[in-house]
Amino acid sequence: MTQRTIPGLHHVTAISGPPQQNVDFFTKLMGQRLVKKTVNFDDPGTYHLYYGNKTADPGTILTFFPFADAGPGRTGPGMASAYAYSVGQGAFDDWIDRLADQAVDFGGPEERFGERMITVADPDGAKVELIEVAGDQAPHLDGFHSATLWLDDIGPTHRLMTDVMGYVEQGYEAKNGEERTRLRAPGDARGAVIDLMRKDASAHCRSGTGTIHHIAFRARDDADQLEWRDRLLADGQRLTPVIDRQYFNAIYFREPGGVLFEIATDPPGFTRDEPLETLGQSLILPEQYEGQRSRLEKILPEIAA
Ligand code: ZN
Repeated sequence: MTQRTIPGLHHVTAISGPPQQNVDFFTKLMGQRLVKKTVNFDDPGTYHLYYGNKTADPGTILTFFPFADAGPGRTGPGMASAYAYSVGQGAFDDWIDRLADQAVDFGGPEERFGERMITVADPDGAKVELIEVAGDQAPHLDGFHSATLWLDDIGPTHRLMTDVMGYVEQGYEAKNGEERTRLRAPGDARGAVIDLMRKDASAHCRSGTGTIHHIAFRARDDADQLEWRDRLLADGQRLTPVIDRQYFNAIYFREPGGVLFEIATDPPGFTRDEPLETLGQSLILPEQYEGQRSRLEKILPEIAA
């Protein structure tokens, strides 16, 4: 078999508190577009909110389940503990000024693998990292730089990602009580970097608001996804069947370090059920819930964009 590689992240999915503050933070402060307002397909009384760049491209998509009754979570080993957006070199200092002007607290700037970064907390206390990258990128945040996986033992995850998923080790850094091993997918797709991180301090993770639920990697199409499924099965991973998520097809598995991984197809994308111009403006329900629209519209809190 020829060596195959995952291009990078497709989306990151996290759990939030009340939706309005989440929408305000990501659209107004972070400058993302709300590209889909739908419901959790497994729990239609809860929203599923998708943010992305203007054209809702894979590698820019951040999604939230604003569970009404979720308590606060805690990041720890066995979880994706942070995600990072890329910021173009010319725009990094502007971001610092913008956050300072709006009296938003941030950590840093500091350096990670030689790149400057700052960390902002979202309304639920989750870490949003902004990392400066070379190149004249647009001033707005246009996709992911990386995600960090917090692991007790990076070995089994490292093996899976380099032997099977095609990632290449790029470096090691010990700083602030954390050890990071950087993996990168070959190519120039967004979100090509995954940091495997461990700390000496013991901690336990608990799913809840302010934590990441899963990270999703890209598959080119359905056939590519099925090939990945076969490869991962052959490696001994336990995967779900293909699940139709309306905007992509998904397979899920828990990688050996405990983090929930998904592989999502690029097509059909977010214009499947509404035009690009008006993405995210109205509540979109999948066919199976369209009959419950009036009931769901009463349950779901109103969101002002
Ligand atoms: Zn997902």
